[in-house]
Amino acid sequence: MAGSIRNEIGELKKKRNAVILAHNYQIPEVQDIADYVGDSLGLARKAAKTDADVIVFCGVMFMAETAKILSPEKKVLIPDPHAGCPLAAMSSVQAVRKLRNENPGVPVVAYVNTDAEVKAIADICCTSSNMEEVVNFLDSGKVIFVPDRNMADYIRKRTGKQVITAAGYCPTHQKIFPEHVAMQKKLHPGAKVLAHPECLPAVISMADAVTSTGGMVSYAKESPADEFIIATEKEMAYRLSREIPGKKFYPASGTAVCPNMKKTDLSKVLLALREMRHEVNVPEDVRKKALISIERMLELS
Ligand code: SF4
Repeated sequence: MAGSIRNEIGELKKKRNAVILAHNYQIPEVQDIADYVGDSLGLARKAAKTDADVIVFCGVMFMAETAKILSPEKKVLIPDPHAGCPLAAMSSVQAVRKLRNENPGVPVVAYVNTDAEVKAIADICCTSSNMEEVVNFLDSGKVIFVPDRNMADYIRKRTGKQVITAAGYCPTHQKIFPEHVAMQKKLHPGAKVLAHPECLPAVISMADAVTSTGGMVSYAKESPADEFIIATEKEMAYRLSREIPGKKFYPASGTAVCPNMKKTDLSKVLLALREMRHEVNVPEDVRKKALISIERMLELS
């Protein structure tokens, strides 16, 4: 059954001149049929460069929107239009405007996990791969960063700048506790701990490296260690094992599952391609402004 779905997806991909992009947190079956699997920055770069006519984006809505912002001439499809990101939903245009009014002249950095409208009123975007670089680049000792408070705390510590933020957080990363990491450390004493910056500060403080999911792949490849505890969404361990089969990866917590990332499956990818359904569009005025913030970030990294 799964084999025939995979075959039909393959045929439709050719027929539509489509490319399938998948985030590292997608279920293994979806990662396996994707043309590219990566983090937000890597996916944005691929979306900008592809010469396919159709992008099937296996991830959450803000990611598909970013692909559309970068490639307006392409059809961007999301297999499940209800795959949102609760963290992105925690920031709004009104909240950013309020922070701006309270802090006149202070630049606004929007994490890529935001809606297109928020990106459109920001000065620059960032991802978990380049947030430090972006904040250091800004000629200001004070920045507004939305929406993730854990990342804001990390950026503050790393850059020494004053970081004003909202109270957003990722419910999935919030489920990883220091006790989980300590338990895994007990089971695998030689393992290095890799943590995503959306984790709680107490988890981040236990990490050997704090980095994006793409950064975790590079770190694990280059490290002489052969065991790693992964403090991020649990599917990342699959992605790492697939890419680096000789090493071992243990999710810090089996409860760190993003339900929105799990909404996409092979049958929805097939339907999206077969019926060209769930097209993602961004109003042109919003798209043009959001593009400026995203391009500033891409030029930097
Ligand atoms: Fe959003 Fe967190 Fe899910 Fe990523 S893991 S899509 S930040 S809710």
